[in-house]
Amino acid sequence: KNIIALHKITKIYRMGEFKVHALKGIDLKVAEGEFIAVMGPSGSGKSTLMSILGCLDVPTSGEYVLDGKEVSKLSKDQLACVRNAKIGFVFQNFNLLPQMSAIENVELPMMYKGIKKPLRTKIARDCLAMVGLHGREHHKPTQLSGGQRQRVAIARALANNPSIILADEPTGNLDSAVSHEIMELFSRLNDEAKVTIILVTHEHDIASFAKRTITLRDGIILSGETENDTSI
Ligand code: ADP
Ligand code: ADP
Repeated sequence: KNIIALHKITKIYRMGEFKVHALKGIDLKVAEGEFIAVMGPSGSGKSTLMSILGCLDVPTSGEYVLDGKEVSKLSKDQLACVRNAKIGFVFQNFNLLPQMSAIENVELPMMYKGIKKPLRTKIARDCLAMVGLHGREHHKPTQLSGGQRQRVAIARALANNPSIILADEPTGNLDSAVSHEIMELFSRLNDEAKVTIILVTHEHDIASFAKRTITLRDGIILSGETENDTSI
């Protein structure tokens, strides 16, 4: 079953009289439980693709079927609903709230969803345990290492039980040993929890943890658009 199907997706940014064709007709199918790396030079459209996949923005044209629902023409509010229900985000800079403990950071998205405190706390504990942070629940981000902070961010992404985790250069601020630990965690979540993962990276050794690599160049997919395509 495809969790994502993109058909002829384009994105044009308008800046006054100028137009930037950021995506020029993207076709992409992602099966449930895939683990995909997105590569490509700066300006090739990676961030634009991720923001469309994550329902942060809509394409200029084309179809996006997410988990059986066409989402390419939804309003901002409808898009936010789909996003909250289906997508977990992980960022390069962790995006944790510094004044809050690890468990409070993980609870936050569940609070917005209206999940009651006892259940929220239980789920947050379970998610922190899943990423190897049992016993660190009450540490603030400043009391945690970079790798541990990213684990908190991954636990927060998991807390909403997303269909897909989207990660934009999640190891960009981590040294190589810690980066590999984080990638091993993503691999384990993909294998054991069957979470679909799509991550952007500039580094081939990071991409090699994924099961498929998509390469973008100038707004088109150069390789990897069909499942298990390993040609360059
Ligand atoms: P990265 O290459 O690390 O993904 P960004 O996605 O931030 O970096 O930016 C990629 C390119 O998009 C850059 O050339 C940047 O100038 C351009 N860009 C990003 N956001 C905007 C914007 N709001 N307006 C104009 N250009 C932008
Ligand atoms: P990447 O993430 O691969 O660096 P982006 O998706 O950020 O690529 O950018 C693709 C193209 O779209 C670039 O030419 C960039 O300058 C342009 N771009 C990205 N975001 C904006 C924006 N908000 N407004 C105008 N142009 C943008």
